[in-house]
Amino acid sequence: MPARTPEDPTSLPRLGARGAGQRARPVISRTTAPSALEGEGFPVRRAFAGVPLELLDPFVHMDQMGEVDYGPGEPKGTPWHPHRGFETVTYMIDGVFEHADSTGGGGRITNGDTQWMTAGAGILHIERPPEELVVSGGLFHGIQLWVNLPAKRKWVPPRYQDIGATSIGFAMSADGAGLFRVIAGELGGVRGPGITYTPINMVHVSLARGGATWIAWPRSYNALVYVLAGRGAVSDAKVPVEMGQLAVLGDGDGIWLEGPPASSAGPASLEALLLGGEPIREPIAAWGPFVMNSRAEIAQAFEDYRAGRMGQIPPSHLASAGQASS
Ligand code: MN
Repeated sequence: MPARTPEDPTSLPRLGARGAGQRARPVISRTTAPSALEGEGFPVRRAFAGVPLELLDPFVHMDQMGEVDYGPGEPKGTPWHPHRGFETVTYMIDGVFEHADSTGGGGRITNGDTQWMTAGAGILHIERPPEELVVSGGLFHGIQLWVNLPAKRKWVPPRYQDIGATSIGFAMSADGAGLFRVIAGELGGVRGPGITYTPINMVHVSLARGGATWIAWPRSYNALVYVLAGRGAVSDAKVPVEMGQLAVLGDGDGIWLEGPPASSAGPASLEALLLGGEPIREPIAAWGPFVMNSRAEIAQAFEDYRAGRMGQIPPSHLASAGQASS
């Protein structure tokens, strides 16, 4: 798992140890992500399936894309499709993903890069592996997270932030066994580069076998632990979690996280995403590629998309454009 790893981890800032009387957030739900196919048929795990939206708030949806090792000719992407009412965060761990959109923007993200797209009032885009990866095949692994927008921000103009892997913030756990990659928000004074309208923390942690760490977490944020690979344990109750599982945590001062047991064979580390944000606490109407506040707004979104009011496929892409899906 390349993501990004610093050359000299010993020089990184370390998170503080757990203070006396600080309460670890308990696990209130543990679910296992079902596998599915997205877009033209790339394998995903639906990380949040079966979890009530009010526990996820401000997050709406997350796919773990892969991990898959494609043969030549196999890599797949999405056709052109619309979004409205939220923001997408795409974090590539292995492989390459290209994107292009109706505002004329586009680019590619690879090992450890993140791309943030605020769909806002509406955008059309396409996400796919580049032609050379389709030809060669290869490893593909990433995350796409949907962050909701409050009603007053759903109509902001679309925008992109391309965040290179080099701008990610790094920290170590107090015991030196955990590496934290801060993609958005703040952890122990280390800030991540991503900006969403709704404040969030998004952190990729690698925790070695036998490691254990306290992670101070804003009390006003919710807290989710999603396991990308390996296994470990969460909370003082040491609830075991493994690849593809999501733990939703209750109230408290921070997150207690453990890597695989020191004595175990099996995976050498726990690879997990830590997610949290300020709940928006508004009604949610989510359907397909749109996340709004009411069914009427969803119907309007489909109508606006059909009428071309979410933008047009740029002329330079028309020759290769697949049929747009809804
Ligand atoms: Mn999309």
